[in-house]
Amino acid sequence: MSHAAVSPVLVIHGGAGVVVRDMTPAKEQAVRAAMTQALQQGHARLKAGDSALDAVIAAIAVLEDDPHFNAGKGAVFTHDGRNELDAAIMDGDTLRAGAVAGVEHVKNPILLARAVMEHSPHVMLSGAGAEAFAKEQGIALVDAAYFRTDARWQQLQRALKEDADKQPHADVETAKHFGTVGAVALDARGRLAAGTSTGGMTDKRWGRIGDSPIIGAGTYANEGCAVSGTGWGEFYIRTVAAHQICMKVTQMRVPLKRAAAEVINQQIPSMGGNGGAIALDAEGHIAIPFNTDGMYRGWIGADGVPHVAIYGDEDDGTTEIPEPAPADSDEQP
Ligand code: ASP
Repeated sequence: MSHAAVSPVLVIHGGAGVVVRDMTPAKEQAVRAAMTQALQQGHARLKAGDSALDAVIAAIAVLEDDPHFNAGKGAVFTHDGRNELDAAIMDGDTLRAGAVAGVEHVKNPILLARAVMEHSPHVMLSGAGAEAFAKEQGIALVDAAYFRTDARWQQLQRALKEDADKQPHADVETAKHFGTVGAVALDARGRLAAGTSTGGMTDKRWGRIGDSPIIGAGTYANEGCAVSGTGWGEFYIRTVAAHQICMKVTQMRVPLKRAAAEVINQQIPSMGGNGGAIALDAEGHIAIPFNTDGMYRGWIGADGVPHVAIYGDEDDGTTEIPEPAPADSDEQP
């Protein structure tokens, strides 16, 4: 597909939820540094003329390798004390997509998602089969112990205790699904891509799979819109959240910010869910709605300056970017 030349943009997230409670200054600094690095590495690819897809993968791989995020190293634990990882990637230009679910030894699940897209006849692979494919493709496999961090282990212990005591998950409930990572990018040729990677929810059981690797739920991109979600996955699946935002934008001509807010700030909370999303359109407009206390989020545009924000009341700089008027506003009655 041919597009007009545009300024490349990259937007990333590192999960939505309650961020204040367990945030030490050292952790906050480490999170901001990792987000900045992910933005810079992804943006370097865009500046070099690489594709939106390459930028999304580069940014997500940085966050998967950093133990502060619930993806790759540092993923949350299942009820049985394992790490089961999910990831997806979608190329908006061609509508090609790849996803993996429930893998336990793949160092960077986003790389395997890309390999599924590019080198298999399928869109989604799971578990042992996905790992056999990873081996064939020469994707790095690691011992399961690689993913473990003490902070995530303690998080599982608290969740298990609250289960046993039949207490509401006061503290853990939101933290259960915090730290998923995602990226959306627009390259110089006007192509969009989206990707998401996660360990899912702490204490998950029975091979539970969330929205992140499900194309249309947690991850979606087409020619005019790219979205990566984070939050209580069951609600993102039921609302087909990422696809719904993109359909509003590309089919119904709803401005990006309004489209994203309708799903993330209205529909999902009205059903009892929570979370956030990053969204980007083909003109480089950004939307980062969330209905939680905070969201790890960042973006980088034409000037190459990385912007990172965590808290709900922190200016993430996206308000500077003007939103186009709704398409129907200048129509004659
Ligand atoms: N959406 C992810 C899931 O439900 C979790 C998250 O975004 O924090 O698996």
